Amino acid sequence: MGKDKRVYDFIIAGGGPTGSTSAIYLRRKGYNVLVLEREYFPRQHVGESLLPFCFPLFQELGVLDDMKKRFVRKPGARFTNHDGTKSSTWCFRNIIQDESYLSFHVVRADFDKLLLDKAKSEGATVQEGSKVTEVNLDNPEEVAVKATCEDQEYDYRARFFIDATGQDTFLARRLGDKKSYQELDRIAFLTHWKGAKYTQGIDVGLLQICYLPPHKSGWFGIQPVGKDRLSVGLIISRKYLKEQKEKFKKSGHEDDWQMQLYLQEVREAPLTKDILEQAHIAQPLIAVSDYSYYAERTFGSNFAMLGDSGKFLDPIFASGVYLGMNSSKMFADALDVMMKSGTTEGLQAMTDAKKHIDGAYNLVEKFVNIYYDPTSFNLAELSSTSESNYQGYETAFSLVHYLLAGDFFNNYERYSEFLDMLRNPKQFSRWKNLVIDRPNLHEKTCGTTFEAIFGEIDDNIVRITSINKENA
Ligand SMILES: Cc1cc2nc3c(=O)[nH]c(=O)nc-3n(C[C@H](O)[C@H](O)[C@H](O)COP(=O)(O)OP(=O)(O)OC[C@H]3O[C@@H](n4cnc5c(N)ncnc54)[C@H](O)[C@@H]3O)c2cc1C
Repeated sequence: MGKDKRVYDFIIAGGGPTGSTSAIYLRRKGYNVLVLEREYFPRQHVGESLLPFCFPLFQELGVLDDMKKRFVRKPGARFTNHDGTKSSTWCFRNIIQDESYLSFHVVRADFDKLLLDKAKSEGATVQEGSKVTEVNLDNPEEVAVKATCEDQEYDYRARFFIDATGQDTFLARRLGDKKSYQELDRIAFLTHWKGAKYTQGIDVGLLQICYLPPHKSGWFGIQPVGKDRLSVGLIISRKYLKEQKEKFKKSGHEDDWQMQLYLQEVREAPLTKDILEQAHIAQPLIAVSDYSYYAERTFGSNFAMLGDSGKFLDPIFASGVYLGMNSSKMFADALDVMMKSGTTEGLQAMTDAKKHIDGAYNLVEKFVNIYYDPTSFNLAELSSTSESNYQGYETAFSLVHYLLAGDFFNNYERYSEFLDMLRNPKQFSRWKNLVIDRPNLHEKTCGTTFEAIFGEIDDNIVRITSINKENA
């Protein structure tokens, strides 16, 4: 029998950005909140490039000033095709006039700790090193939760359980409700490098997305997370991974085939080959597999799955943290209705919030599917600049910028129609013809300086400790 039968309004499993954001908003509404986090923070994690649309959340949560001191700024994204001959740069300042046009690249160990500490300071009870092992949802208006901490089992009760366990998908797996997106079956490897050459737009903070050749069906995501700390993530299809795994194992790399594969790809892609020639790896390789999935039923009268715990698509548009945090904010309002007005009203409010959350996720899903469709548009081959001779197309350009900046929740219906238009080969080729091969197609900057991007940060405060490693 476990110890400690305390009763809370909300128990949140997982203290990543989704769990911490839920905890802060629920605390501000006056509820007793317990966060059970399996790891001790800081712990490293993937998901380092954040979208400008996160900015108001950071401001509201009270972490923006700290973020400005700690993290590299991100003015936009640059897409390059697989042989490095074509690229396009998308600058957020083309559509955003206030300071949020400079977003962030974060070290997740630091960022997640900042948010979790904030949840503590707002009065949430946070127990690190506590792994949730069981939840009983039989009583529609209460939950019983078991967690282990340092080999001891503890029992807790609450009115409502929030699953924010990320890719562990604690509840979806227990409810037998986890489904995969077969068409997004990819694997990711990521690590940090020191001694990399800061050129090609990295020196001015751009997120770099480099397409791999079509048979690998993947890309590199490269972002500076310190003055001398470059994060380089590799995404490839499972099919390609299997072929390569076999090849490396046959040649004697039983134990280190993942690293060998990662290094092979780094050496083959023109951009990574150039910038990492003199660099060395600064932390263990993280491998993330099985990451495109969803759960059918993500909430009920006593539970909700938020952030990655209920759905994850693909990291190409760096959308995960924002989707998780904004969904948490929206759900906190719905849960407040439930606590104040009762289960029926609460379920209605959750249904309403979920409609918008689904709208945002579906929009990202459409964007992701278009990105991977070899017959559809290639972002490396489009210029982001707007000039007078394609005035009529400025709206379309703005829309792509807005999508890349994270405008998923406000206008998803409109954007969805726009993406359908781009899928029509005739309309797309008309749109594309007006914009490719412009003189500034190869621009590698959004006009920001090294000082503006890296000025305030100090690499020495980067905290890297434990790594969650999954088997690919
Ligand atoms: C390769 C890759 C690159 C990505 N790049 C980006 C990017 O650039 N930008 C972006 O916004 N997103 C990116 N993402 C997505 C991003 O990582 C996630 O969307 C984001 O971390 C989700 O936050 P979360 O709080 O829902 O889950 P997590 O951040 O995963 O947090 C979940 C927490 O729950 C804890 N936990 C798990 N099980 C239990 C348990 N049983 N009991 C208690 N605690 C538990 C874990 O320890 C963890 O701390 C990327 C994802 C991948 C795979």
